[in-house]
Amino acid sequence: MNNKFELIYEGKAKKVFSHEDADKVIIEFKDDATAFNSLKKARFEGKGKLNCQISSKIFELLINKNIPTHFLELKNENTMIAKKIRVIPLEIVLRNIAYGSLCKQTTLKLGSTLAKPLIDIYLKNDELNDPLITKDRIELLNIVSAKDLDSIIDLTLEINRILQEFFKKIKLQLVDFKLEFGHDLKNNILLGDEISPDNCRLWDLNQKSDIIVSLDKDRFRNDLGGLIEAYSEINRRINDFI
Ligand code: UDP
Repeated sequence: MNNKFELIYEGKAKKVFSHEDADKVIIEFKDDATAFNSLKKARFEGKGKLNCQISSKIFELLINKNIPTHFLELKNENTMIAKKIRVIPLEIVLRNIAYGSLCKQTTLKLGSTLAKPLIDIYLKNDELNDPLITKDRIELLNIVSAKDLDSIIDLTLEINRILQEFFKKIKLQLVDFKLEFGHDLKNNILLGDEISPDNCRLWDLNQKSDIIVSLDKDRFRNDLGGLIEAYSEINRRINDFI
């Protein structure tokens, strides 16, 4: 990235740079992958580009359905311009199917369909290992107002309806996903971060048998191999459809 832009923040999978307009940022998607709170790390050549393309397309889809997001435009293959937001330190996970940590922490069977979408909220804090958090603790810690939390939950449910329908059309099952929200300079709530196979579980519906074929970061978490091939397949299906 050109050094006229100042690096404001570097996360595990993205770098955020200043923009000449004070209300915008430049987000660069990295090829790095981490799992299990960074205990596992790797680099996948081309992952940044794929996640940037996939996220941009999904943000555009959501914006067309009136979801407020930080996305403004794609800058180049692995960077996008977004509205500057103050990120709310919560990870909002929505689950349609029981998998991952939900099955480690409950008696729910892997792969069982939930009667209705479940929202789990985690505190975004690496030192504390992103603990599951309650509404009362969110209020106690003054993380976000009750009204804004209600809007975030409503938006998450609406995003799930839009994404489930979209992914079904391209033969993908949306198992679960993680969202992050923030406030813009006028204090509006916007969807931030990214929506990509790094933070969504997507299963291939083009399979004849009942075996689960993950086209997401579980390929890295569970050492399944073929991560770039899986992300490229998602990108291809999205581009063929749109
Ligand atoms: N997730 C994420 N970042 C995290 C934790 C989870 O993007 O720090 C996503 C993950 O990709 C999945 C969903 O949130 O789509 C639910 O993850 P889960 O709680 O099952 O945790 P995991 O099994 O990935 O540890």
